[in-house]
Amino acid sequence: MTYSKRDTNYDIIVAGGGFAGCAAAVAAARTGKKVLLVEKSGALGGAANVNLVNPFMRYYTKDSEGKPHTVLSRGIFGEIVSRLGEKGGIRGNIFSEETLKSVLDEMCTEAGVRVLFHALVCGADASDGLVKSVSAAGKSGIMKLSASYFVDATADADLSFLAGFPCRLGREKDGLCQPMTLCFRVGNIDTGLFRKSSDIMQKAYLEAKESGATDNPRENILCFATLSPGVVHFNTTRIVKLDPVDPFDLSEAEIAARRQAADIVKLLREKVPGCEECVLLSTASEIGVRESRMIDGLYMLTSDEIKACCRFDDGIAACNYDIDIHNPEGSGTSHYYFKGEDYYTVPYRCLVPAGSKNLLAAGRCISVTHEVQASVRIMPVCCCLGEAAGIGAALAAGAGCGVAEVAPSAVRAAITEAGGFVG
Ligand SMILES: Cc1cc2nc3c(=O)[nH]c(=O)nc-3n(C[C@H](O)[C@H](O)[C@H](O)COP(=O)(O)OP(=O)(O)OC[C@H]3O[C@@H](n4cnc5c(N)ncnc54)[C@H](O)[C@@H]3O)c2cc1C
Repeated sequence: MTYSKRDTNYDIIVAGGGFAGCAAAVAAARTGKKVLLVEKSGALGGAANVNLVNPFMRYYTKDSEGKPHTVLSRGIFGEIVSRLGEKGGIRGNIFSEETLKSVLDEMCTEAGVRVLFHALVCGADASDGLVKSVSAAGKSGIMKLSASYFVDATADADLSFLAGFPCRLGREKDGLCQPMTLCFRVGNIDTGLFRKSSDIMQKAYLEAKESGATDNPRENILCFATLSPGVVHFNTTRIVKLDPVDPFDLSEAEIAARRQAADIVKLLREKVPGCEECVLLSTASEIGVRESRMIDGLYMLTSDEIKACCRFDDGIAACNYDIDIHNPEGSGTSHYYFKGEDYYTVPYRCLVPAGSKNLLAAGRCISVTHEVQASVRIMPVCCCLGEAAGIGAALAAGAGCGVAEVAPSAVRAAITEAGGFVG
């Protein structure tokens, strides 16, 4: 596919270049459609890039001995993992976000996706369920970009909201969302000694909380290994009760979370063996948002259904990650774990905003309850949801029909043919 620089009309526009958006764009472009991927930052990868989120949470079932059995997230996600492996950019579930950025650049380029960085989708021209164009803010003003079909992979359902489709925010009873977290990396750690010092670190953290040395409401310190020797990944700041789609609240959250990160680094240096000379290498460029707006779709998947491991006729992605809820009000994290071989599927209808003719949603903003979002939101599953949306939009474009009229069996067949898994 060749594009002229000022091309403003596409078959499909995908808003947001995270796992969901990249998979949607690549899947659609591979069918020969003219696809524009609009991303507000300067690289692909979404939360893995802008929020430093790592590693991939579990996307396979386990057998009776606890060994990996069925891989649930395959297709484009499987290709990404393979390409990361070929470049030495993954070990187990831990990956290099720098390698990820180049893998996604390559996959989009090879598929013929036109990528537009530094462009924030900030408006939509829509009526009667039909989106005609989106506005994107760039350095020189607002661009109008048109397409026949659209995919909202902004994570916050920005496009659906701007186009006037009904959306919800957070949990049903009070609208509170899961906490926001600014991830950060600390280097120059003797990781051998650090691993043995976990109890000391957790005790020191509880003491710091009690003495008021930090206002972080999280119950413990959550950290992970990285691919780099001496570097540890921290996913442990916690900001609650702020609105993740309000820039003023987000600004307050960034500042408070940076303070919490500094508190932890001080504590590490002063109290934790192996960390005496540690340095804060980076905080994420943006605070991570676990949950925000979600669309009201043709179907809303509920926790009863996923706990019963429902597999739907129009299932387009499979998941068994636990219902992992970081307390929206303060301390504590609750988990509901699926048994080894169990999994559920996500219906295609959860990607279709109610009343939409040509817009699909993908990633963590699909139509599910607060509890279900706590399970489907992981990167491998978001990638599969994106692939399904890209295929759904491409099939609708091919047939010239509405996105709700696409036969789910055709979406499922195309996913399976491309190496994906639909349950
Ligand atoms: C702190 C934290 C820790 C997490 N830990 C893990 C973990 O360990 N493992 C795991 O698998 N998952 C984890 N997750 C969940 C996971 O990272 C996200 O749910 C997932 O990445 C969502 O994918 P997505 O493609 O829907 O959205 P995102 O990855 O958020 O991508 C959305 C993209 O859209 C862009 N964008 C947003 N709005 C606009 C707009 N208006 N116009 C243009 N572009 C826009 C953004 O810049 C971004 O690139 C974590 C999430 C957070 C916040």
